[in-house]
Amino acid sequence: MLYQRSSQLFIDAQKVIPGGVNSPVRAFKSVGGTPIFVKSAKGAYLFDEDGNRLIDYINSWGPMILGHAFEPVVNAVIERTKKGTSFGMPTELETEIAKLAIAMVPGIEKIRFVNSGTEACMSAIRLARGFSSKDKIIKFAGCYHGHSDSFLIQAGSGASTFGTPNSPGVTTGTAKDTLLATYNDLENVSQLIAANPNEIAAIIVEPVAGNMGCIPPKPGFLEGLRELCTANNILLIFDEVMTGFRLAKGGVQELYGVTADIVTFGKVIGGGLPVGAFAARSEIMNYLAPIGPVYQAGTLSGNPLAMAAGLAMLKSIDEDATLFQRLEEKTAYLEAGMHGAFGNEEFPYTINRVGSMISVHFDAMPVVDFQSAAKGDNEMFKKFFHGLLNEGVYIAPSAYETWFITDALTYDDLDFTIEAIRKVSKKLT
Ligand SMILES: *Cc1c(COP(=O)(O)O)cnc(C)c1O
Repeated sequence: MLYQRSSQLFIDAQKVIPGGVNSPVRAFKSVGGTPIFVKSAKGAYLFDEDGNRLIDYINSWGPMILGHAFEPVVNAVIERTKKGTSFGMPTELETEIAKLAIAMVPGIEKIRFVNSGTEACMSAIRLARGFSSKDKIIKFAGCYHGHSDSFLIQAGSGASTFGTPNSPGVTTGTAKDTLLATYNDLENVSQLIAANPNEIAAIIVEPVAGNMGCIPPKPGFLEGLRELCTANNILLIFDEVMTGFRLAKGGVQELYGVTADIVTFGKVIGGGLPVGAFAARSEIMNYLAPIGPVYQAGTLSGNPLAMAAGLAMLKSIDEDATLFQRLEEKTAYLEAGMHGAFGNEEFPYTINRVGSMISVHFDAMPVVDFQSAAKGDNEMFKKFFHGLLNEGVYIAPSAYETWFITDALTYDDLDFTIEAIRKVSKKLT
């Protein structure tokens, strides 16, 4: 496939936008080559500026779970737009989507809408700190909670010591309040809690990890976190920005039967518009301004277009009794096809999957945490990525990303993809 026009647009973009992109992974740095500029998208397909059609396995990093340009969402936004695009005043729409989200997700009584997953997670820990009057949080290496300062902490110095910032601009003062733990390692979490008695406000976790590839929680891991939090008066925050409304109507809380104290959302909840949200029982949410002392605000929060898109999206998911079954079957089909394609080859690989989240790691060992995810062969991944792209299949341009399966994919699309994987895997070694 040719990417002449994309290459030209990328050159232009780099003159006025740092790295040519408004979010770093888009730049293809870890796989090399030129990012593809999108002209339009419909259903399971992207159409780029060079006229290529690509089958999309990223789907805007999750939101397009029902396909691109999904009609109920598009129509809701068009209709809403005609009535004005922002007021900075309350609308009935906000209550409507809040009620629906609360009905779909276990354990939450109030919800506040923001503009991104980053904002949701940042606000959630502020709320947790305000509510508990404690400063420290525990996060897991390899879990991503957006780009706010407290979360940009690296595992480099070992899980039992204070984190060091992994971006200039994050102060050591901020970093010292973020403790790092190893995903799927309860013992490690217990030790951190014991070493910091009465200092930990919250544990934040991706309850199914999706930002180091897809990593399921080991049996007992989430239950163990729940017990440790309850026993030590720590708030458990499930970051369901990726998993919320994707793995089940009620997200991971419903899927695994474990209840968090605060839940964060993004991606699917906005139907493709910039939306995030955080939610909890009333006792906690009432700590927020204007009724409580914890300040949190936003000029465009609850924006009517964003709320209209989100509401149309959540309604479609809520009313579709077989959606999650179909997503499970399609993704399992892809997984089986991939095993079929890889099975004849010599290279080591691991496939992880939960529902419609799936990832491939070019390493034979189980991928259960950041350390094991980092062992994958990146050179092999680059070849895999570009091979698939050449066949018209677009997966995330990084070995640390999950594929997001959309319901718009047909079995013909999946067969086409599996055939492409078969072709490409023959040339990997
Ligand atoms: C994407 C993501 C975020 C950040 O959301 P943005 O909308 O990109 O700010 C936070 N947490 C998780 C688990 C995510 O996948």
